[in-house]
Amino acid sequence: MAFASLSVGFELPETSQDYVIKVELDPEAGRLTGSVEISWDYQGDAVINEIPVNLYMNAFAHSETTWLREKNIELSADEKRETFEKLQKLHSDPWGYSKLLSVEQDGIPITWQAIQPDDGNVLDNTLIELTLAEPVSRDKSLKLVIKFEAKLPVPHAPFRRTGGFGDYFFMAQWYPKLSLYEEGFGFVKGQFHADTEFYADFADYHVEITAPDKWVVGATGEQINKQIVQDVAVHVFEQKAVHDFAFLVAKNFVERVEYFERDDGSQIELHYFMEKDHEYQVPRFNRFMQQGIAKFEKHIGRYPYQTLSIIFPSFAQKDTAGMEYPTLITVVPAGEIWDQFPLSEFRMIEMVALHEFGHQYFYGFFASNERRNAFLDEGFNSYWEGRIMSEIYGKTSSWGLVAGRRLDGKVLEKAGPDAAEDIRESVRKQPSWLYYPGTSGRQVYNRPADTLMTAGNLYGNDIIDDIFHAYYKSYVFQHPNQNDFFQTVKSIGGKKVFNLISEGLSEPELPNYKVAQLESQLRTEPVGYNENEQLLTESLRQLDDQGMVWVETTDPGWFDMQEQFTREGSVQLGEERLLNPSEGAALNPPETTNAPQAASFYESRVRIEGPAWRYLPIALRFTFSDGKVLSKQWDGRAAWQAYRLLSGSKLVKVEIDPEQLITLDNNPLDNSLSLESDKLFVWEKSTWLAAFIQWFSTGVLTWI
Ligand SMILES: [Zn+2]
Repeated sequence: MAFASLSVGFELPETSQDYVIKVELDPEAGRLTGSVEISWDYQGDAVINEIPVNLYMNAFAHSETTWLREKNIELSADEKRETFEKLQKLHSDPWGYSKLLSVEQDGIPITWQAIQPDDGNVLDNTLIELTLAEPVSRDKSLKLVIKFEAKLPVPHAPFRRTGGFGDYFFMAQWYPKLSLYEEGFGFVKGQFHADTEFYADFADYHVEITAPDKWVVGATGEQINKQIVQDVAVHVFEQKAVHDFAFLVAKNFVERVEYFERDDGSQIELHYFMEKDHEYQVPRFNRFMQQGIAKFEKHIGRYPYQTLSIIFPSFAQKDTAGMEYPTLITVVPAGEIWDQFPLSEFRMIEMVALHEFGHQYFYGFFASNERRNAFLDEGFNSYWEGRIMSEIYGKTSSWGLVAGRRLDGKVLEKAGPDAAEDIRESVRKQPSWLYYPGTSGRQVYNRPADTLMTAGNLYGNDIIDDIFHAYYKSYVFQHPNQNDFFQTVKSIGGKKVFNLISEGLSEPELPNYKVAQLESQLRTEPVGYNENEQLLTESLRQLDDQGMVWVETTDPGWFDMQEQFTREGSVQLGEERLLNPSEGAALNPPETTNAPQAASFYESRVRIEGPAWRYLPIALRFTFSDGKVLSKQWDGRAAWQAYRLLSGSKLVKVEIDPEQLITLDNNPLDNSLSLESDKLFVWEKSTWLAAFIQWFSTGVLTWI
């Protein structure tokens, strides 16, 4: 096969598989027919008698497929029925399927049967197994010719991602595709699950798409030919070293080509597809794509392909939005709505586009197994999308404005206020399609993003860059697993960073720090026989004159099961200096008063609680009524910590992590207590932002 030239300075790897596909779309019937020739030059030690093949489109064949069962897992039987009734009211036949018409190995017809290794759901036909006529081995490569047809589903909820009707069709997971063979393990056989996706080997694709001649076609790879035969056009696309192939066929669409140019003279062709009316928005789209691609290449590594197709679906079929395929992404529908207030200020398109582009790395050419560990894709990608958005648009308003309020993408990448209670298993456990219902999105998207962001905040973003540069160098096109990632973190990031990232992703729960108690009252003399009152008040006065407070710290101690080690609890006594936050160590001169009395001093009690993690130290800030502050550090090893303070002014506020570095702590509402009401703070944090985060983290984030 001949391929067009590659990006300068980057050789795509040789692959052992070829897909030659001929497919025709019949828009009237919403149907594909075609043939796939698959060759596989197997070079391992095994002798292979059966070949598993994915028929992903069968996820949309009926209401009890594994994909739809999982998708609707939180719905009651009645709600499920209503969902499908609603869909069938809109479309008489919304279902889709994939059907093999014949399979031949070297010209000999062979048989197949559906298998369900994951959940035993005999109604699920998303994975079949071919019984070979002759085993495949090092000496015998595989040559298959499969004739197939597919009926395209209607891409309306609960269906997603693929299908079409009318004059817009988006084909994803539409052809028979081999499962990936891991040497020493065998085939990684997986049905199609709602929450995790695909895992396949890199192959070289040659695809001929027949579609109505006036319609626009966009696809994975480079278009190398187009021929018009009567009223249809045959579009030929090729791409080396990709593990999937998707394409768009749409009527009233346009294609606009722009270029991303690098300093070394190489370039990426950016193909923008959208409805004709929205072509005027291309300059805006192109601006943020240019900025985003430059950032991804700088922080991680070079995008290795020659083309990138960026599709803005029609609004009627927006359920094909927000997805990634090799060299092709779908964003959100373009349109005037984005030019109008309030959406004109909200950077939704930008965020989705950069998120989907980021997938070119983690889903695309790293190509980790999403079924086993989806966080290696969605999680890392969420981190980079968030970080790059704030680098481009500024830290506190990376997402622009919503209703006039600045929106910080970092906050939105968080797993939400309930995460610490809802999440109950390590994100590293396998497989990723079996997280506790309702927590998958927050586990695989937000949690890794929060963890990496916390590590960057505490130890510097440069270390995160170094880790991902090294990860890129070692594992591009290698299907890295979680151990590969943690090895990289350990060798590049050092012990501290490794420990934090490892703990953040390994613990069953997410951490929540919390101020549980704050009391501050004028001190009263003890009742009973008290001979030392004078001594105490004199020394408190002296401390106060020097700008200091008396602090008693109760550390309850802890037991480390892993190390079988216990740290004895203690009460530590000490004098600590107060700082004036605006002037550093400089203090106002003390006021002169009469002889000290108990009632001239405040006695304050504070208790904070934490997750008792090993590697998540936090900062504390105590603020007094005169504006002076006491800053403390806590190693966070014990489950709680208490403080008793004696001071000349009243303690009015206690804050945990005042700089908000620990983004892993998802509930900022309980990170401070104040004796003076701070209405704006309370409203901001507890009402608007919390509601928004909740909506965002459980809604939008789970599908991009
Ligand atoms: Zn994503």
